[in-house]
Amino acid sequence: MQILDGKLVAKEILDTVAVEVRSLTVPPRLVVVLVGDNPASETYVRMKRKACEQVGIVWELIRLSAGDVTTESVIDLIHELNQRDDVHGILVQLPLPSHVYVPQVIKAIDPYKDVDGFQAYNLGKMFLSEEFMDLSPCTPKGVLKILDHYNIDVKGMDATVVGHSNVVGKPMSTMLLNRNATVTTCHIDTKDLKSHTIGADLLVVAVGKPGLVTADMVKDGAIVIDVGINKLADGKLVGDVDFENVSKKASYITPVPGGVGPMTVACLMENTLMAYKKNTVKK
Ligand code: NAP
Repeated sequence: MQILDGKLVAKEILDTVAVEVRSLTVPPRLVVVLVGDNPASETYVRMKRKACEQVGIVWELIRLSAGDVTTESVIDLIHELNQRDDVHGILVQLPLPSHVYVPQVIKAIDPYKDVDGFQAYNLGKMFLSEEFMDLSPCTPKGVLKILDHYNIDVKGMDATVVGHSNVVGKPMSTMLLNRNATVTTCHIDTKDLKSHTIGADLLVVAVGKPGLVTADMVKDGAIVIDVGINKLADGKLVGDVDFENVSKKASYITPVPGGVGPMTVACLMENTLMAYKKNTVKK
């Protein structure tokens, strides 16, 4: 069994981004909009800030109080950011309070500044083929990059993705299909999850339920990518996969922490640099 070391691969990406950013006269600027005081969001935002500092991307955080915002007020802010020439990337940290309608907020972001890759324009390009992939969702993009680093070619593999969110599961399934894996996507209404995981050569789990995938659900020699991040009562971070037992059967597996998480942040830095180039060429 080999650990897929996301920290290591992420560092390589960050180093490459940093070299390019340092060669620019004006550095890229990423603006993050954070609404409310969700502790998990605070942690993710801190990690993104640290990565920006590491690679030389200018960081701007706009904090809004959950009680003060409406869908319209967040959209107005995004329109302002879209107009600002000094802003190259816009990221709205999810989740938003339930009274704010996320699809409308995402829709308002200039596709050229959409560093999360959640805009219909960017998702559409990703849907067409890998060749057209542009600013694409950071987590599944990070999964592809970690597979590439370890020379894992998914072509012809039976791949099962557990979770079908717009952020991870759906784009992950599409990206694997673009590489000619035979993809099964599972979700909350999947009748018999094990029947779909047990035959998978590649298993990607993105649900948010610790211990969801146990060793009896995994094929010998499978490649297991655990996207889940769950904080246990004792403060320990774990994924969705029973790492201790599944790692005994897997050929490759990502740890949590240190697997997909750092890749997501590294891909965000890469996307911000890409957005910078798109916005400076546009003018
Ligand atoms: P999400 O929007 O809550 O989506 C979870 C998905 O899992 C949904 O499609 C849901 O189906 C499905 N699901 C729930 N229970 C299930 C079950 N018992 N069996 C099969 N599918 C089930 O979450 P997300 O944003 O995709 O994130 C998933 C996990 O990845 C979370 O732990 C999150 O913290 C983590 N995450 C990690 C990174 C990283 O960088 N490592 C990045 C993003 C997210 P329904 O929608 O039909 O209910």
